[in-house]
Amino acid sequence: MKLIYTHENRFLVGNAHNILEQAGIRVVWKNEFASSAIGEISPFDTWPELWVIDDSDYEQAMQIISTALSATNAPEWTCGSCNENNDAAFETCWNCQAEKQETTQ
Ligand SMILES: [Zn+2]
Repeated sequence: MKLIYTHENRFLVGNAHNILEQAGIRVVWKNEFASSAIGEISPFDTWPELWVIDDSDYEQAMQIISTALSATNAPEWTCGSCNENNDAAFETCWNCQAEKQETTQ
């Protein structure tokens, strides 16, 4: 296993977790519940961590994460083919691989 991402903001780590799972990469949390232990150990040690289970997924996972982080503020988009919601990080639908299309909302 390799550490792929860690951040003090659990929401960001959770978001990264969802994105990687949707991309078919198997990941696991570490320290998911450690924040309840703050006071005993330094906050830095309690950051949730995201690990890729299969080392061969590491480079792809890193690319997905970096793409996702650069698009953090972009809105989700809805696939025109299957109506699945896609994270802004995706350029094609995670479900049916259709090209992203600008929608008129
Ligand atoms: Zn689709």
